[in-house]
Amino acid sequence: MKKKLIAGNWKMNGSLAANEGLVTALRAGLGVPNCHVALCVPSVYLPQMQALVAGSSIDLGAQDVSQHESGAFTGEVSGNMLKEFGVHYCIVGHSERREYHFETDALVAAKTQRALACGITPIVCVGETLAEREAGKTEEVVKRQLAAVIHANGHCISEIVVAYEPVWAIGTGKTASTEQAQQVHAVLRAQLKAASPQADRIHILYGGSMNAANAAQLLAQPDIDGGLVGGASLKAPDFLSIIASAL
Ligand code: PEP
Repeated sequence: MKKKLIAGNWKMNGSLAANEGLVTALRAGLGVPNCHVALCVPSVYLPQMQALVAGSSIDLGAQDVSQHESGAFTGEVSGNMLKEFGVHYCIVGHSERREYHFETDALVAAKTQRALACGITPIVCVGETLAEREAGKTEEVVKRQLAAVIHANGHCISEIVVAYEPVWAIGTGKTASTEQAQQVHAVLRAQLKAASPQADRIHILYGGSMNAANAAQLLAQPDIDGGLVGGASLKAPDFLSIIASAL
């Protein structure tokens, strides 16, 4: 069985002092984890974070990548730049970027391609809004979002990580029930299997108000291979407790 992956998404949080305190506390409590651990941090902190996680079992992640290789794209950060700072993972298509930055399925697919071309593992986020769930469209939405990424990435698809993040559960304290989460994960797994004979190696993470109290139950589901953790990744004891429940 593959090791689970617990990835923290710090979003736009942190400071030089806070990052140092948090990583120091994580390193002190981590020991040798049973799972892969990653921290997806604001790009500006990557040089600091590269030094802070050096020699630990924490992998570094970014939260976005440009779809372009280089050039006149003010404000963007390229995959090659991320790679220079030891970035292993990069979140793409987070619902906050889809919503506030108008990222389309096609753009998310292109960003996934760029990350893979740079040797970075994309964590591709999919998920339905509350209105879409209530309209019975959950499957249709997540399958459409993932299909765009599969279509653009062909056989490389086995190199991605998928995160199912119901939009209504992100930062709201409302977690999908284990049944709701497992059901969507099974749909995504089937879609990946139809696209790649190596789909079993793909991690499908759950994200959306995962915390120390609900992580073990979610992570025990057969198609939940880890978690993408927002708020709870900013508190060392909570994040360590989630990591400890990823067996
Ligand atoms: C996220 O932003 O990816 C996330 C899952 O946030 P939270 O855990 O705070 O809901």
